[in-house]
Amino acid sequence: MQRFDALVVGAGPAGSTAAYRLAAAGASVLLVDKARFPRDKPCGGGLTTRAVRMLPFSVEPVVEDIVHTFELRLGYGKSFERTSEQPLCLMTQRRRLDHFLARKAQEAGADFRDGVRVELGEELRVDGEPVLADVIVGADGANGITSRVAGAELGYGVALEGNAPLDRRYRGKLVLELGVVPGGYGWVFPKGDHANFGVGGWESEGPRLREHLRRLCEQHGVDAAELTDLRGYRLPFRRASSTVASTKLLLVGDAAGLVDPLSGDGMYEAFVSAKLAAEAVLSGDLDAYAQRVLAELGPLHAASWTAKYALDRFPRLTFAIARAPLAWSVIARLVRGELKDPSAARGLSRAPLRALDALGRLAAA
Ligand SMILES: Cc1cc2nc3c(=O)[nH]c(=O)nc-3n(C[C@H](O)[C@H](O)[C@H](O)COP(=O)(O)OP(=O)(O)OC[C@H]3O[C@@H](n4cnc5c(N)ncnc54)[C@H](O)[C@@H]3O)c2cc1C
Repeated sequence: MQRFDALVVGAGPAGSTAAYRLAAAGASVLLVDKARFPRDKPCGGGLTTRAVRMLPFSVEPVVEDIVHTFELRLGYGKSFERTSEQPLCLMTQRRRLDHFLARKAQEAGADFRDGVRVELGEELRVDGEPVLADVIVGADGANGITSRVAGAELGYGVALEGNAPLDRRYRGKLVLELGVVPGGYGWVFPKGDHANFGVGGWESEGPRLREHLRRLCEQHGVDAAELTDLRGYRLPFRRASSTVASTKLLLVGDAAGLVDPLSGDGMYEAFVSAKLAAEAVLSGDLDAYAQRVLAELGPLHAASWTAKYALDRFPRLTFAIARAPLAWSVIARLVRGELKDPSAARGLSRAPLRALDALGRLAAA
């Protein structure tokens, strides 16, 4: 029977980077995915600089655009732009990014098997063959099996996205349409030869997502009926009491429900949790993992929930706060990973954050 130090279930951003870090440190790793690679994953494919900083290698070969400008819009009306000299976001396609990350794990020494079936019963089985592993890293995303095995309690948002030919006006720019989808927003992301149009919000918005997407496209002069690769998917948010680990099983990324509640981004969290899981496995201190993940991401996500409630209930006021001159330096530093979470901001830039916090508390009351 084959024996591994770690079995990583799922080769998305979380699983592949966990496998890379473990294999690069000399651990024997089996990385498995039920899909055949290259495979796609419904996602905007936007890697914030904050996320990129967490990667142990460059992803330059799969970057299709570099975003320096954010255009924030409200209710398909008012808008403003802010620009950063340093990049804010790298645009990728998940089909390419995830294949690249899985190959990196393989090159580092992980045994990567795609298109396989995993059973996590009394005995671990991969395609029917029993395997032994000291630890399982659960990286199988929002619809996987490991979060159920660990007993995680997750809530969900939903999102729908598709692609249209690129209008050059979106080059180097990311457009966020606020106040148009309850519990979320609409976006336009530039890629190599196309733009990605998407909408996401509360789970209850599921039946209305197509209509939200049609409206977004219409506002940008695109025929929604012509979108290609139209796909919907769930965004998992961990409940405050939810576990991120059980005996010999560490949940990472979406399997742990670590998506940012405000932005709906999850790749930063996937990379952070993968790094912490790999460190826990390598040090032999699995018990430290849960506490470290919550310490690292808890304050950021708490602030994101507050801002999400504020945006949902008071979109105009929240938009006005985001537009305030002092707010941009905080937003840009958060996106670039120079600020760990809003509470780390100092000086005058705290003023818009205090206002947002007060609004959010009022909205949640
Ligand atoms: C529409 C949409 C847009 C988004 N846009 C962005 C964005 O622009 N930027 C951002 O940072 N985040 C974005 N997100 C969130 C982001 O996609 C996720 O947070 C991210 O993919 C999480 O990575 P992961 O590795 O945890 O899981 P996943 O990427 O979901 O990977 C899980 C892997 O596990 C495999 N798997 C599942 N079940 C099994 C099983 N039983 N056995 C073996 N393998 C299994 C799957 O095939 C998959 O390869 C978006 C999400 C949605 C839905």
